[in-house]
Amino acid sequence: MTGLGTAAVHGDDGLVPGGSVAPPIVQSVTFSAESDERFTEIATESRGSAFYTRYGNPNHAQVAAVVAGLEGAETGLVTASGMGAISTIALALLRAGDHVVVQRSTYGGTTSLATGLLPRFGVAYTQVDQTDTAAFARALRPQTRLVLVETPSNPLLELTDVAAVVEPAHAAGALVVVDNTFATPVNQRPAAAGADLVWHSGTKFLGGHSDVSAGVVVGSAELIEQVWRTAIVTGATLGPVDAWLLLRGIRTLPLRVERHNANALALARALEGHPAVARVRYPGLASHPQHALARRQMTGFGGVLGVELRGGRAGAAALLHGLRLAKRAASLGSVSTLVVHPRSMWAGIVDAGQLAAAGISDGLVRVSTGIEDTADLVADFVTAADGAVAVG
Ligand SMILES: *Cc1c(COP(=O)(O)O)cnc(C)c1O
Repeated sequence: MTGLGTAAVHGDDGLVPGGSVAPPIVQSVTFSAESDERFTEIATESRGSAFYTRYGNPNHAQVAAVVAGLEGAETGLVTASGMGAISTIALALLRAGDHVVVQRSTYGGTTSLATGLLPRFGVAYTQVDQTDTAAFARALRPQTRLVLVETPSNPLLELTDVAAVVEPAHAAGALVVVDNTFATPVNQRPAAAGADLVWHSGTKFLGGHSDVSAGVVVGSAELIEQVWRTAIVTGATLGPVDAWLLLRGIRTLPLRVERHNANALALARALEGHPAVARVRYPGLASHPQHALARRQMTGFGGVLGVELRGGRAGAAALLHGLRLAKRAASLGSVSTLVVHPRSMWAGIVDAGQLAAAGISDGLVRVSTGIEDTADLVADFVTAADGAVAVG
């Protein structure tokens, strides 16, 4: 096992053909066989890279190997988006009559999948408060097949004690599936805590440059095989160029995440106690209710923080309006700092009642720090927060 910086650069060494240092983009949907026998072989090969790109492509295999290495998992596969990853996992592993446990605070698309789409196929769900570890065990039923964990959660930055959730879930015969998008393997490795599958919106920190939509799932060969069998049917296929871009982003993930972590901690400290700010949500602050768990479970606290303005919706608007460097945009994990008002952003995918019940207040602004210089970012936010003091 090498360090993460080395794994990000060399995790696919055996999979890149010839002497090219940067992997070639294999922009072909189909691959020829030298004989009939060989064609039958590649057509029936599991997770091969030499038959048809929906089944697999060399660029897919390279990214999957690198992410599996970073996460300390056996193997993996890539999809066209993070939602392509989790919906394929769900369709692969669930059937009518099953039950899933899902967090109250989780990415809007995941909430929508578990509480909107899956029930139409006869899959029941229970939502739990992730900060209450015992709630996961209480929610387990004989029919529970999956426990969907996201830590830190989007956008409330609440944590789940992964190891403590894994134990009762496994005892009940359920699999634990962790969305590691916010933390990245640089800050947290859920597979080491016993998670069965770890998935990412590769669109975020892994890609890192706001230029590619992608998803990744890693786990044991046995589970990944099942997910792959469904992926070739659902067809959320990542294009070869996008797989190449994703890998290009991952090469610098450990370097970038160091800066994201430092910027987020500096911003959290600068804004905590500011007169316009009611509360800063960041696992790296001693004031975070689960700071002790964060220190135990994470090696860094991530690039995302939540800022609750005293002035509610108007205060949030004033902060957003006052920013010069940070861009008002959906998504996160970019080289550029991105800010959003989650209540507005998710109005189209999760109903307002659910958002309020999930604890997403009108004054909450989610900040995803980029890799700009720390002093410039802090100055931008403090100036904008100064302008939000009188509002509300
Ligand atoms: C963005 C996001 C997703 C969804 O990923 P897409 O690539 O946009 O489909 C899932 N989980 C988390 C935590 C996210 O932030």
